[in-house]
Amino acid sequence: MNNQDLAASVNSRRTFAIISHPDAGKTTITEQLLLFGGVLRKAGTVKAKKSGSFAKSDWMEIEKKRGISVTSSVMQFDYADKRINILDTPGHEDFSEDTYRTLMAVDSAVMVIDSAKGIEPQTKKLFQVCKMRGIPIFTFINKLDRDGKDPLELIAELEDVLGIGAFPMNWPIGMGKGLKGLYDIFNQRIELYRKEDQGESYLELDDNGELREDNPLKEESIYQQVLEEVELLKDAGNQMNEEKIAAGKLTPVFFGSALTNFGVKTFLDAYLKFAPAPAAHRDEAGEKISPVSNDFSGFVFKIQANMNPNHRDRIAFVRICAGEFERGMDVTLARDSKKIRLSNSTQFMADSRETLETAVAGDIIGLYDTGNFQIGDTIFAGKHKIQYEKLPQFTPEIFVRVTAKNVMKQKSFHKGIAQLVQEGAVQLYQSYSTNDYILGAVGQLQFEVFQFRMLNEYHSEVVMTPMGRKIARWIDPEQLDEKMSSSRNILVKDRQGLPLFLFENEFSERWFADKYPNVKLSAKL
Ligand code: GDP
Repeated sequence: MNNQDLAASVNSRRTFAIISHPDAGKTTITEQLLLFGGVLRKAGTVKAKKSGSFAKSDWMEIEKKRGISVTSSVMQFDYADKRINILDTPGHEDFSEDTYRTLMAVDSAVMVIDSAKGIEPQTKKLFQVCKMRGIPIFTFINKLDRDGKDPLELIAELEDVLGIGAFPMNWPIGMGKGLKGLYDIFNQRIELYRKEDQGESYLELDDNGELREDNPLKEESIYQQVLEEVELLKDAGNQMNEEKIAAGKLTPVFFGSALTNFGVKTFLDAYLKFAPAPAAHRDEAGEKISPVSNDFSGFVFKIQANMNPNHRDRIAFVRICAGEFERGMDVTLARDSKKIRLSNSTQFMADSRETLETAVAGDIIGLYDTGNFQIGDTIFAGKHKIQYEKLPQFTPEIFVRVTAKNVMKQKSFHKGIAQLVQEGAVQLYQSYSTNDYILGAVGQLQFEVFQFRMLNEYHSEVVMTPMGRKIARWIDPEQLDEKMSSSRNILVKDRQGLPLFLFENEFSERWFADKYPNVKLSAKL
């Protein structure tokens, strides 16, 4: 591919994740997007995947065998001259560090909110990671076909709870049974609510933002109310500001109903106008590497092991940050300068099962891995070494004590732990004085996967004793006095030997802070 073609290809990519609290409608909206992309022919197929009756790729087949749906899979489709990559961020018990790291591999995020519930805890957590990255965030307030919170209240919640400016792109005309449509501020039109199987239906607005005289909607009191609210938003609300959107400081807000496919196309079309093409990633030294570069490079943001005991292979998910990937190409692993040929070990994580031949910056590829890769690894082609900046570590929230069931098998136990911890599957701690092993994770599933893999890959049966939720706070070793440890906190050390406290709850953390006002605690290393 010459440079011009590469630039065109890269610029056509839109790579994003949908973040939400479970049940807000992430799957439903994803499905509608795939329908627009022509990838799915009927609604309900993605849904079925959840229950395990439908496998979209070999990869999901593997997951089905595992009996858990852990996938942060990638779905790709073409729409309006764009190639769109949607990365799934699993919720519920599937929630893990992978979910957070997936957000390192996207260029923007779509936040789906249930209009009746507003901002929920998981949305907030995922939002924080997007905010840290400074990527654009687009909001879809879902389930308008049901009664929900007042739209003005929802906008205020975005600003108060998340601290992000909100710019409504459209505004609901009614809700639940009284839903009439959307007042589309951005497109200067009204989108009428209609049955799911009917096409979109729009009414043009005049220069004053009003309907023509003869429209019956004008007689409805809700119409007048919406005009007033829109006026209020224009006067007192945020102004459209593309720079702020790009910096993740202002979120365009769309209303709709994913289930009845209402407002989803309007959302997608506007989203594609504002969503960024693949951005330059920074290397270790902070230098930006252009995505339109002759040499391929990318980083591993997730490794998923095949739990089928007959096949020990794993898949490394790579975000391509620069250049073009071609099957069979030779790359160098930045960590140890090892040369690796990416031959037919490559498979595409999309809807189809075809083997991937080429991909460009912005795309995600799945590489069969025989143990070469670690999370955060950079691979690059060409002579010039590239090492992308480190992936952040996320503070674990739940903890277990772990021991080998069979004391005679300590060797495989230690080997297994060392490798799985290195892979980034779980975080390892040791109690300060007794050196007992403690594992930390952000989701329960990580422990289950750990236990399973210890048994299958290292023949080590582990016993895990739940310790529950804890708040991990690092303490400056200089300030540490072992007497600070009490019944309300556990003193442990991390892999680097640095001390931290695991507090039972916020109360015990505050109690500690009151007792030792000069001691600085931090959530991160
Ligand atoms: P996820 O957990 O975020 O993936 O949520 P799902 O897409 O599985 O949706 C959760 C539930 O909400 C399902 O029963 C959906 O049918 C329902 N749902 C999703 N979108 C809408 C909507 O726009 N309106 C209504 N009434 N229900 C919806």
